[in-house]
Amino acid sequence: MILKLIIFAVIAGFIYRLMGGNIPFIDKAKSKKSEHEFGEIEATSECASCGTYMTEDDALIYHKKSYCSTECVEKAKRLK
Ligand SMILES: [Zn+2]
Repeated sequence: MILKLIIFAVIAGFIYRLMGGNIPFIDKAKSKKSEHEFGEIEATSECASCGTYMTEDDALIYHKKSYCSTECVEKAKRLK
């Protein structure tokens, strides 16, 4: 009986670690925010127009430069 409990605890702990140590439904929003705070997973790039830093996922690429928003892309277009 005790052995069964230990095996169950080990399996539960293993599953918990597989999920990144977070309970998916409760910590989903939280864990995404912490990724941004630590900045280890996502690379950041600087907006070529206003200098704002954003993740490369959010960046808009125009003429091999990254911009934070369509407004900044439009600004860059007008300057040329
Ligand atoms: Zn910008």
